Amino acid sequence: MLERHPVRGFWIRLDGAWRSLRSFHRYEPAVEALLGEAVTASVLLAATLKFEGTLSLQLAGDGLVKLLVAQCTHRFEIRAVARAAEGAAGAASFRELVGDGRLTVAIEAEERAARYQGVVGLEGAGLAACLEAYFAASEQLPTRIALTADGARTGGVLLQKLPSSPAQGEALAAVSQDVWESLQSQMPLLAAPLLRLGTAEEVLQRVCGEHDCRLFARAPVRFACRCSQARVADLLRSLGAEEMRAILAEQGSATVTCEFCGRPYRFDAIDIERLFTEGASPDTPRSLN
Ligand SMILES: [Zn+2]
Repeated sequence: MLERHPVRGFWIRLDGAWRSLRSFHRYEPAVEALLGEAVTASVLLAATLKFEGTLSLQLAGDGLVKLLVAQCTHRFEIRAVARAAEGAAGAASFRELVGDGRLTVAIEAEERAARYQGVVGLEGAGLAACLEAYFAASEQLPTRIALTADGARTGGVLLQKLPSSPAQGEALAAVSQDVWESLQSQMPLLAAPLLRLGTAEEVLQRVCGEHDCRLFARAPVRFACRCSQARVADLLRSLGAEEMRAILAEQGSATVTCEFCGRPYRFDAIDIERLFTEGASPDTPRSLN
């Protein structure tokens, strides 16, 4: 946070957690970079919130990437997956990747009643620009975002202007606005190597220069999947007894592989009969997401 002005920022750099996350799939470099940016953005967005649950970023469109989901919990546990068409070649632009699509930000609270969802079109020049549009539309806090990712590392910064307090007075509020304008003009100048490899102090120096800042403690981010036997059981139950018995007759058992972490869940004939005789467990959601 800036000491004298209502401006805050979040900085993130992922290496080990990102490498764990991407170890379950092989993606074309352009798809992988978009996935890395999305998961980095999900952590930045989660960091801005006070919540207990999961924040999801979902990109869906008619480009080479059909669907991309990146999630971060309030404990900064990340997971993400992308479904891309064949031939999502290395040099594909953001526009070719997402096509005409939508970006959904969903926040699922742990106590399941609370759920927030915001949607914007993917019209920006990149994911960061689309997220800035999302903030402009939903939160009404001026927000600038920088994101970058390659196969080994990702990096990102989120800069946000908070409302000036009435006690601050008009003159000081105008100064704060000028400070904000000058800081946010630095954001497009953040080079990808600095974001991926630089320290928080180096990035802070680049954006905030001579302004007094307060750096808060860091939190570790790790890859963790929330899939479980119970969640997969609910998914299979939702297909119906008839469908599941048909699969059983054809294949002898049913195996569901988690898209996020590659973990296989096998259900034999006895397991499948049990799905439809014991009833749904009351406290597990119906989908893997
Ligand atoms: Zn999983």
